[in-house]
Amino acid sequence: MIETSVASGRYARQAIFAQVGPEGQQRLQQARVCVVGVGALGTHVADTLARAGVGFLRLVDRDVPELTNLQRQVLFDESDLDKGLPKAVAAARRLAAINSEIEIDARAVDVNQTNVEGLIEDVDLVVDATDNFEIRYLLNDACVKHGIPWVYGGVIGSYGMTMTIRPGETPCLRCVFPDPPAPGDAPTCDTAGVIGPAVAMVAALESAEAMKLAVGALDALNRGLLSLDVWQLSFEQIPLGAPDPACPCCGRREFAFLDRAAPSHTTQLCGRDAVQVLVHPPARVNLAELARRLSPLGQVGFNAYLLRFRTGAFELTVFPDGRAIVKGTTDPAQARSLYARYIGM
Ligand SMILES: [Zn+2]
Repeated sequence: MIETSVASGRYARQAIFAQVGPEGQQRLQQARVCVVGVGALGTHVADTLARAGVGFLRLVDRDVPELTNLQRQVLFDESDLDKGLPKAVAAARRLAAINSEIEIDARAVDVNQTNVEGLIEDVDLVVDATDNFEIRYLLNDACVKHGIPWVYGGVIGSYGMTMTIRPGETPCLRCVFPDPPAPGDAPTCDTAGVIGPAVAMVAALESAEAMKLAVGALDALNRGLLSLDVWQLSFEQIPLGAPDPACPCCGRREFAFLDRAAPSHTTQLCGRDAVQVLVHPPARVNLAELARRLSPLGQVGFNAYLLRFRTGAFELTVFPDGRAIVKGTTDPAQARSLYARYIGM
């Protein structure tokens, strides 16, 4: 039986921490949080928030676990490499074993302008645990539009950065960085690598900010752009002041990233020899039927969440909404042609 009283229950040590207290603990248990990205940062953040008792966690990730993830993505183990579950689902199962008292909503989707608002509009706050700027600027637009606070975080090498955005109260991402870096300008995990302790530090700071937002400890929030380097042992906080009235996003309320045309059909995936192929509008693919069609052409397996098809040097992972990850190539044209040949456009 699970003991729930404040003095001896699961959250006892957290509830006697004065700044949380029994009332803060209740607020955590009523809180609804969306974690975008269930990779390095996301697995740490989701683990901390699930253990802290956040009542509703939505986990959003488009990918499947890979061997190179295990060095820093704490909710996965070697058995997840063979299970063929999306990261969001594998993480949700692990978290359910850690805390069966909370609700977890796993979404194995690509976050883009067609679905981002639906993913965030019913939560109290959003934690950014993505690895790319395209999604962060989209999140910023969506969160400012709906007045939802969000915590930005990024890690590369031994270096990390975080800021907390409360729309209308503090500068938004575009107040500080008006435009995303040009493709190829920012280092990626691919080119610069990343170490676990840097991930853990930034994830811990993001989790603490999420907890403060959930309990209403607004005075304790990070009011600056906080950066750190675990190798150099440096820690810096640049104060950010007030929102910029001329900011296109939170000042003029022009949501350029949200209002863009449908996303491109192919995206190279960071750190992977793989390309994602999207279909608009989302399809409804019968995975069992597709598996039957593909079985004479290669090795195929499927479950409720995805189908995996191997042929020659390529592996296609197909999701029920028609989205696919084509492994074995970084060439979008080749990925599209494999998709057309085996799944059909
Ligand atoms: Zn702004």
